[in-house]
Amino acid sequence: MATCHFSSECRFFNNDIANMPVIADIMKKKYCQGSYYSQCARYKVADSLGNEKVPSKLFPDETIKAKIILAELKM
Ligand code: SF4
Repeated sequence: MATCHFSSECRFFNNDIANMPVIADIMKKKYCQGSYYSQCARYKVADSLGNEKVPSKLFPDETIKAKIILAELKM
């Protein structure tokens, strides 16, 4: 059961990304199904800019990349 409300449309959660990290299931337990979803890089971009702006290759632990995307797209 996912706690993140983006799970139904999230390409990472739905395994719709080539070359998923080997720890994808662990990440899903921590972020998507746990209490850390608001710390997920994909969540941060989707929540601020919309899910369509989340790069397919952005993974939950890439928060620095998310900050750069948010800074660039909010300019
Ligand atoms: S990867 Fe992030 S945005 Fe996607 S379902 Fe998991 S917590 Fe939500």
